Amino acid sequence: MRFREPLLGGSAAMPGASLQRACRLLVAVCALHLGVTLVYYLVGRDLSRLPQLVGVPTPLQGSSNGAAAIGQPSGELQPRGAAPPPPSRTSSKPRLGGASNPDADSRPGPGPGLGSNLTSAPVPPATALSLPACPEESPLLVGPMLIEFNKAVDLKLVEEQNPKVKVGGRYTPKDCVSPHKVAIIIPFRNRQEHLKYWLYYLHPVLQRQQLDYGIYVINQAGESMFNRAKLLNVGFKEALKDYGYNCFVFSDVDLIPMNDHNTYRCFSQPRHISVAMDKFGFSLPYVQYFGGVSALSKQQFLTINGFPNNYWGWGGEDDDIFNRLAFKGMSVSRPSAVIGKCRMIRHSRDKKNEPNPQRFDRIAHTKETMLSDGLNTLTYLVLDVQRYPLYTKITVDIGTPS
Ligand code: BGC
Repeated sequence: MRFREPLLGGSAAMPGASLQRACRLLVAVCALHLGVTLVYYLVGRDLSRLPQLVGVPTPLQGSSNGAAAIGQPSGELQPRGAAPPPPSRTSSKPRLGGASNPDADSRPGPGPGLGSNLTSAPVPPATALSLPACPEESPLLVGPMLIEFNKAVDLKLVEEQNPKVKVGGRYTPKDCVSPHKVAIIIPFRNRQEHLKYWLYYLHPVLQRQQLDYGIYVINQAGESMFNRAKLLNVGFKEALKDYGYNCFVFSDVDLIPMNDHNTYRCFSQPRHISVAMDKFGFSLPYVQYFGGVSALSKQQFLTINGFPNNYWGWGGEDDDIFNRLAFKGMSVSRPSAVIGKCRMIRHSRDKKNEPNPQRFDRIAHTKETMLSDGLNTLTYLVLDVQRYPLYTKITVDIGTPS
């Protein structure tokens, strides 16, 4: 009897050897298959994710605190002291703002640039959920502070001393979620030296207060009469285009708090912050005084139709604001005179900010005028927006007295 020649070769005399060869061939084919599959698998994957999969931080992950790093504004990656990026909102073409131009609110959507998504991107929910809420009172406060204006301030040094402040003057606490999203609005013209002191003293204070804040310097263009309240209205509208601020602190550029327990945030009633100024002997000049530094929530501000646009020159606009609050049934909340102490930088009166002789008459008519003079009639032209490392400067044409 003759054995059938095996298909895979081999000898009829040695059927075990044929089987061995057949097995070897099968193993070789399997190994080849496995190899080819592996190559396809690796080529098909996103190889850039490999370091993450094995727990090695990539340059983009940076921080050791994963939870805090996730979703931070892209400004996080900006090296401190670097030149400000091209201002994302700077346009060569002036932009109209205000009630008469509804299109003025539209702003180019967040682009790929650094500044463009810096302040417009809120903390993603995943991060917000992973962090606790900031405590009612910050544990970082130090109390009374020495405030002096005898040494010149170098802004480069201030930048280095505040490495967590992001371009445009934005800061968000890293370890907790602040309910206080505060836009600080500073009406401005030709006071750069005062602004330096303000930035030097306030950035550390505001960070210790654990606020989610941004600094907006609203610079009045041109030489016509200064209009503080109208600039504040502009600041309110412009800051809201950046981020979902729910609180607005309106501060003169020359006022510095002397105690960090005087929190620059909003309360259930409008807040007067500069209640004990050195120039008034550390007390209120009169009970209705609402000047210097004050804070209104977004809702409080909207309820009074914002601030008046019609006070050109020095004085009266803060009294008008107080009247608006009173006519809308609000009261003023204040810190104690000890906590509320603050210093003013001495200076001579600015040109084109002489006392406004019409102010007494205007204050007497707030009840009627507040309906038709405020946010609903605000018009202005944004000429320039600059994102500096410690603040955002918005230069506006607010017109002239009518
Ligand atoms: C003015 C206010 C000013 C206050 C304190 C008042 O007469 O109307 O605008 O803030 O004096 O100087």
